[in-house]
Amino acid sequence: SGPQVARLVASRVLDVPDFPKPGVMFKDLMPLFADGAVFREVIDGIVEYHGRDSFDIVVGIEARGFVIAAAIAYATGVGVVPVRKAGKLPRAAYSASYALEYGEATLEVHQDAFTAGHRVLVVDDVLATGGTAEATLDLVERAGGTVAGFTVLLELGFLEGRKKLAGRPVHALLTV
Ligand code: AMP
Repeated sequence: SGPQVARLVASRVLDVPDFPKPGVMFKDLMPLFADGAVFREVIDGIVEYHGRDSFDIVVGIEARGFVIAAAIAYATGVGVVPVRKAGKLPRAAYSASYALEYGEATLEVHQDAFTAGHRVLVVDDVLATGGTAEATLDLVERAGGTVAGFTVLLELGFLEGRKKLAGRPVHALLTV
């Protein structure tokens, strides 16, 4: 159930202060990935929340999103598409840039990643300021996909990332 999955996420997140730079509290979910029973329950919880027939393909955001996306894809029999940092994809790609606290980041997706109208479930580990998610959802739509949902394991509510995603179907297993 939702509350049970939220408790599992809470039990397997490690707070790492000042990583990758001073002032940031990094939420490390690798202990969750490393616990097979917990990982399976979390993946099943995401699938159950959305319904296995509500999406045709899964997008994972580099790099921790890949782990989650691949598991959902395997569990449901759909395919997986990576959204990658700039310069990693080998063929023609769409790019979306967004502001970071200092500077800018760029994400890319292959132009032929989706069949027109494909319903795309997008997943990542953490929703912080929402810039990564906003850029990714824009890329999915530019490449011809329809966003069926965006789900994260953990949302940092105080950073108000959801505001950037207004009108988008955002779901977090746990919000802190
Ligand atoms: P943002 O674009 O600010 O929402 O940042 C989201 C992306 O950066 C996700 O891919 C997260 O994996 C990563 N991220 C940002 N802040 C954190 C944090 N405090 N702990 C762990 N990952 C984070």
